[in-house]
Amino acid sequence: MDRMEIKQLFIERLSPLFGDQEAESMYKHYAIYLQSGKVLTAQEILHDIQALCDQVPIQYVVGKTFFYANEFLVNPSVLIPRPETEELVRMILENRATEQSSSILDIGTGSACILLSLLCELPAARGLGIDISESALEIAKQNAQQLKLSAAFMALDILEELLWSQLNTYDIIVSNPPYIDVLEEDRMGESTLKYEPEIALFSKGDPDLFYKKIAAFGHKHLAEGGEIWCEMNEFRSVEIQRIFNKANFKTEVYQDMQSKDRVIKATR
Ligand code: GLN
Repeated sequence: MDRMEIKQLFIERLSPLFGDQEAESMYKHYAIYLQSGKVLTAQEILHDIQALCDQVPIQYVVGKTFFYANEFLVNPSVLIPRPETEELVRMILENRATEQSSSILDIGTGSACILLSLLCELPAARGLGIDISESALEIAKQNAQQLKLSAAFMALDILEELLWSQLNTYDIIVSNPPYIDVLEEDRMGESTLKYEPEIALFSKGDPDLFYKKIAAFGHKHLAEGGEIWCEMNEFRSVEIQRIFNKANFKTEVYQDMQSKDRVIKATR
């Protein structure tokens, strides 16, 4: 199948479901993948188009995505990196007061897109990514390998305070924890709900649980002069700021490109 035939097939099958514009943009994304990957058989291409019809996100279909300055492998055990998380990385790099040689901890690292993007820009820094999910850590390790970056990874549930003794102190503690309230489910896209990992999105019971734990953890594990940076739910910035303030941190809230409260920085 040549490029024109593949494109035609994409438009034919996907336009009725998603509209011309979206079908075209899916094809463009797919075409980038065709350029960098192996030659696919017609059967494989048809299989991918069917997956797209079933609303599998294109990033999972091609198994990779772009984030900040690099390509990252993704699969359904990790969240597909969002543009607002790229903003988190940019904000840390632009506003951080710490040295090049700092140590970084990424809590709930997933694909490790945050940690590895930071390490790419801060070559003298050391990084550790932790996650409760072993399968997410597999992808994180592959991404580190692919980007030729050395980072450590550890399976650890940050909610388990007894495990904190396995961790050191860090100059930068960063996290994009699960922060969607179950009540917000209806504003989420269908394909996100169907295919992205629930544990990376929803904080069941208490939407601020991870921030409470990170504030308590930071109390003991943030180095002198260090900074905590978290992505957060745009509707909970007041509560989240209060959590860090109560734990004796000074806080600053940053807005994303859509002028929504998205990132919090906590310092002592
Ligand atoms: N920003 C993501 C979304 O709204 C959620 C990420 C998260 O829960 N950490 O889909």
